[in-house]
Amino acid sequence: MDKIVLDGNVVAQEIREGLKTRIEKLKKNGLIPCLATILVGDNPASETYVKMKGNACKRLGMKSIRVHLPEETSTSELVETIKELNNDNSVHGILLQHPVPPHIDERTAFEAIDIRKDVDGVTSTGYGQTALGFGEYPSCTPAAIMKILEHYQIQIDGKHAVVVGRSPILGKPVSALLLNANATVTTCHSRTSNLPEILKLADIVVAAVGKPEFIKGSWLKDGSIILDAGYNEGNVGDIDYKTCYEVASAITPVPGGVGPVTIATLLKQTVESAEKYSV
Ligand code: NAP
Repeated sequence: MDKIVLDGNVVAQEIREGLKTRIEKLKKNGLIPCLATILVGDNPASETYVKMKGNACKRLGMKSIRVHLPEETSTSELVETIKELNNDNSVHGILLQHPVPPHIDERTAFEAIDIRKDVDGVTSTGYGQTALGFGEYPSCTPAAIMKILEHYQIQIDGKHAVVVGRSPILGKPVSALLLNANATVTTCHSRTSNLPEILKLADIVVAAVGKPEFIKGSWLKDGSIILDAGYNEGNVGDIDYKTCYEVASAITPVPGGVGPVTIATLLKQTVESAEKYSV
C-alpha cells in the first residue's frame, strides 16, 4: 500500500485560491472582510499564532484588527472589548486566542462573542450547532481535519475513529464532526485507562493531546490514518512521527499538516461571514 503524507499546505492553498474571487467581489461592493484577533497577555506562542493569522489575512487582501490586552485584563474588561467588536460593523469575525491567562474565565469570554462573528466555533451555540450537524462555523482545527480527509478522499463512513483529547475547541467538536460523517467514534482523555489498546482498534486517529510526541507507532494498527493536530515547542506534534510514519497509510506532518489548513479555514469562515453582511 502506498503511504500518503497528507500535505496541509496543498489543501490550504486550494482553500485560499477559492477565496480570491469572493474577496474581490466583496471589495467591489465596498466591503473588506475583516478578522479581529484578541490576544491577552504575552504568551510568545500565542503571539506567533495571532501574527500568523493577521499576516494570512493581509496576504489575501483581507483586513485584520489586532487587539492586544495586558496580562492583568479582567474577565469583564475582556467581555467589554468583545462587545465593542460585536458592535463594529466593519468586523466580520472575532477570534479570542486560547489560552487566556488563568485568572480570566475563558468560557464567559467565549460566550460574549456574537454567534454571527463566531468564526472559530467557540461559543456554546456554535459548538451545539456543529454537534447537531448544521453549524455554520465549526471550530477551525476540527474543520481543517475534516477538510484534509475530504481532500484526500479518505473514507470516514463506517470507520472507527479514535480522538485523543476532549477540549471544547478541538477534541469534542472533531469527535462530533466525525460522528456526523458516520464514523464510529471513541474519544479518549487523561482518565482513559487503556489508550494503546483502544488506539490499536482505530482506522483513523486524531491526536489532540497537547503533549509532544505522545502517541507511539507501536500503539497503532497497521495502515491507520493519522491526523496530528498537536503543535508543540520544537515544531513537533502530539505523535511520535518517526514510529507512527512506519505503521500509517496516511499521516499529517508537523509543521505543514493541520496548522496551515486551520488558518485557511479561519479566513474562509471570515469571508463567509462578510458575505452574509453584504446581502
Ligand atoms: P487541551 O485543552 O490541553 O486538551 C488536551 C486534551 O488532551 C484534554 O482533553 C486532556 O484530557 C487530553 N489528555 C491530556 N493528557 C492525556 C493523556 N495522557 N492521555 C489521553 N489524553 C490526554 O489542548 P487543545 O487546545 O485541545 O490542544 C491540543 C493540541 O492541539 C495542542 O498540541 C495544541 O497546540 C494543538 N492545537 C493545534 C491547533 C492547530 O491549528 N494545529 C489548534 C489548536 C490546538 P482531560 O480533558 O482529561 O484533561
